[in-house]
Amino acid sequence: MNAPTSKQHLAPAYIFSPPPAVSLPVQGEAARFAVNRIFCVGRNYADHAKEMGHDPSREPPFFFMKPASTIVSDGGHFPYPALSKDVHHEIELVVCLSQGGKNISADQALSHVYGYAVGLDMTRRDLQSEAKKMGRPWDTGKAFDHSAPCGTVLPAAQCGHLAQGVVVLTVNGQPRQSGDLKDLIWNVPETIAYLSTLFELSTGDLIYTGTPAGVGPVVAGDVMLARIAGLPDLAINVV
Ligand code: MN
Repeated sequence: MNAPTSKQHLAPAYIFSPPPAVSLPVQGEAARFAVNRIFCVGRNYADHAKEMGHDPSREPPFFFMKPASTIVSDGGHFPYPALSKDVHHEIELVVCLSQGGKNISADQALSHVYGYAVGLDMTRRDLQSEAKKMGRPWDTGKAFDHSAPCGTVLPAAQCGHLAQGVVVLTVNGQPRQSGDLKDLIWNVPETIAYLSTLFELSTGDLIYTGTPAGVGPVVAGDVMLARIAGLPDLAINVV
């Protein structure tokens, strides 16, 4: 038998080529932020919990996930998805983790944050509502292709940690959603701490932190402009 060469050690053979790594641009850096997983927080602003018919009291946070492959970058296209007649925008602060861990304390949580971005948790509301009624998973409503547009990452080293700031989403220039980061029911450190009791977090994980009130439908031809004070804007075309 031939001894394996060093080349064989470095480059494993695959039956099919692995999918390309998913990454986001970083403001002021040539290097990109490689994305691992996407966690999303449900009902994290009282006014949105109320508009969805829920009690806005401070229950423990709950989470769902989207595949990293659902990311669309700033200036990109959101193809109107199949099998839905009610696709909603949800503007959210996205937290980008530099390091992971389990049972991270809220006091230590911000030292695990690389930076922040503006995101959209796009939702097939009709499929999500059906899933809720039937007690089924939310994946078809939440985790479909192109469902996680995300803007350029701003390193915390440049912007500091965001605990307040206006959150605004317009569609074709018309205001739809507005809120303030200070009104998060579970703030960023608390969310990281809680999530890290459920999952061992990793470098490259993103957390979409929930949306304020004003969610609503989009149609093909719409332009969504998502803004959070201090962060690069996110513009997405519905096609
Ligand atoms: Mn959401």
